[in-house]
Amino acid sequence: MVARIIPVDSFDLIVFGGTGDLARRKILPALFKRFCGGQMPGESRLIGVARRELDDLGYRDFVRSALSEFAGEAAFDTVAVNAFCDMLHYVSVDARGDRGWQALGEMMIPDKVRAFYYSVGPSVFSDLSERLHKYGLVDEQTRIVVEKPFGHDLDTARALNRELARHFDETQIYRIDHYLGKETVQNLMAVRFGNMLFEPLWNAQYIDHIQITVAETVGVSGRGEYYEKAGAMRDMVQNHLMQLLCLIAMEPPSFFEPNAVRDEKLKVIRALDSVQPHHLVRGQYTAADGFNSYREDVDNPRSKTESFVALKCHLNNWRWAGTPFYLRTGKRLNEQDSEITVVFKDTPHSIFGPEAGRHRNELTIQLQPDEGITLGVTIKEPGQGGMRLMDVPLDMSFAETLGPDAHTPDAYERLIMDVIRGNQTLFMRNDEVEAAWAWTDPIIRGWEARGDVPKPYDSFSAGPDDAALLMRRDGREWRGITH
Ligand code: NAP
Repeated sequence: MVARIIPVDSFDLIVFGGTGDLARRKILPALFKRFCGGQMPGESRLIGVARRELDDLGYRDFVRSALSEFAGEAAFDTVAVNAFCDMLHYVSVDARGDRGWQALGEMMIPDKVRAFYYSVGPSVFSDLSERLHKYGLVDEQTRIVVEKPFGHDLDTARALNRELARHFDETQIYRIDHYLGKETVQNLMAVRFGNMLFEPLWNAQYIDHIQITVAETVGVSGRGEYYEKAGAMRDMVQNHLMQLLCLIAMEPPSFFEPNAVRDEKLKVIRALDSVQPHHLVRGQYTAADGFNSYREDVDNPRSKTESFVALKCHLNNWRWAGTPFYLRTGKRLNEQDSEITVVFKDTPHSIFGPEAGRHRNELTIQLQPDEGITLGVTIKEPGQGGMRLMDVPLDMSFAETLGPDAHTPDAYERLIMDVIRGNQTLFMRNDEVEAAWAWTDPIIRGWEARGDVPKPYDSFSAGPDDAALLMRRDGREWRGITH
């Protein structure tokens, strides 16, 4: 099945931080793939901006090497790479000073979609926004794209939102959480709201619990300075895991329309109960053969920052009263695995007797390493005497089901094109971000006040044993990576 291409008008994407790590690894390869997919019309341009002195040719060389490293097989197509590079330009601008702005301003074309990607640290946002206005680069077609972190806590998030709101209308601001750009995450909404099958069962009466795991094998080296100030709670739970929780738990919006979807997500965050200290586990990885410990990675022998967190939480609303949600995320774990599992309740009565065993339906939404959705159903074990039961998966791996021609776009491909189309559905609104911090802040303040120290856990394990206990105390087990 070949994906249908939705055409867009030609546009300018101006990447501040066009020579940075995020641009090399994500933004440039994503745009190149959309170019190959026919979604970058002829008059479109990507303008890289940074302080470093470079000309267009120098920047094109830089982009070629980024594509060969991060664009996969598509980068072997030298004709496509050359044609893409013809659309690239570079201007040296200091976002915090006055150098280069006039030259950039002269390149702007009226009435063309113009998206400024803030791929620079948050400390640059204010000066950058100010100067976009001062030099007359903002018009009605202007959008800005902002990357996480959206603040460090509620106060800083509010200050950042206020600062952006001084310069832009909320309809012009696109806060990226790349988890929302994943095809499976959008499929989660399609499965829930496009089928009659699931929604009647999607509540506390039929669902025992829901678990969300985002496990990484990598440590924090290279990002140690940032991570040591953030930790897993701020880096992952406050944004990615909470966004997944929102999509799983929200009420059906009236329309698949940006504010209708975001209103429903906001209600979920606001319904979250506070987390009890004994429902929270924090961990820190220790050294392994040839691998540093967390404390060595961040060069702080007394660090109390968590590289792992697991927690149990509840939603105070009619749909979910009594169904716990378990979240866990961590670095240097035994597998890269991002998945959501919805575990349904036992049938009210087993007609097959105790030998048949206990079987439950489970819906697993796999985000990484491969995307797909699996529904576990119970059937008769073939060939056995009597009635013994077993679970089999009804598997919907996208790569297999949709065939070899189906290109599953990378999250950044999808999200950048949504910015160009002016569709904010998959971007976080200011009040969502603030509500997420309002829930996270007291949890963090609580462990700081108690002086909690994260539990050490072995590198390449499933995290601290206490995370397994968090489940076992409730008679449950984690799916995905196991202890
Ligand atoms: P980076 O590798 O340090 O790159 C920063 C870029 O900004 C460079 O191109 C730098 O070039 C440019 N820059 C810095 N100050 C500037 C100024 N005053 N005027 C113009 N350009 C300036 O950072 P990054 O990893 O790409 O991250 C960029 C943003 O994305 C950060 O907010 C980060 O938190 C966020 N983010 C990154 C990732 C990731 O995977 N890397 C993931 C999620 C979010 P010059 O020094 O030449 O100016």
